[in-house]
Amino acid sequence: MSTTVRLGVMGGTFDPVHYGHLVAAEEALAQFHLDRVVFMPTGRPVRKTHRSVSSAEDRYLMTVVATASNPDFSVSRIEIDRAGDTYTVDTMLQMRKESGEGAELFFITGADAVREILGWRGADRLAELCTFIAATRPGYEADFPSEAVEGGGPRLPKVEHMEVPALAISSSDIRDRVAAGRPVRYLLPESVSAYIEKTGLYRAPTR
Ligand code: ATP
Ligand code: MG
Repeated sequence: MSTTVRLGVMGGTFDPVHYGHLVAAEEALAQFHLDRVVFMPTGRPVRKTHRSVSSAEDRYLMTVVATASNPDFSVSRIEIDRAGDTYTVDTMLQMRKESGEGAELFFITGADAVREILGWRGADRLAELCTFIAATRPGYEADFPSEAVEGGGPRLPKVEHMEVPALAISSSDIRDRVAAGRPVRYLLPESVSAYIEKTGLYRAPTR
């Protein structure tokens, strides 16, 4: 049996974290025999400049309370503690450094986000660092060059597909619901909705 550590990284804005994220991470753990999944809230998301994103600390804390009961999940502060723009390649380089050469890294992402990967800064470097796990997401087709699916290459990340139970849940919809006073129960952990209520997050429309 191999002793290589298989480490999943679930990147996201998590504004707020919801059951779509948690189910995708849990499925990746099982389907790809990962040892653990590290949730990685983004610092200043490069690609989400069109709306104001909640503070890194709020997003970090919501992710912590949402994952607290799962011994295989943890949350990293790497991105939120880094000054300046967030680039996935820098994060994965640091994860590689921290986890050692023996670890195998996986970046878990939804079908909508994987399409952007090929255009990301350092996509060729990312190809050497990790395998991408693309989760199905209702309403989104995963469409990217077939070379990426067929095992990657020197410049194209390797992308593995993963079927997850379809959950048409998004953070944007949850924010809209909170702003409109509509229910969010059963869309995200109760600990997270309690945090939202306590802090007054999303009460005013955010977009
Ligand atoms: P927003 O609506 O603000 O864009 P979001 O719900 O898409 O938020 P993100 O933090 O942007 O959440 O997502 C982080 C990662 O989780 C992305 O890779 C995204 O594709 C994936 N993801 C989000 N929701 C789901 C879902 N319901 N099913 C599968 N993957 C999901
Ligand atoms: Mg999104």
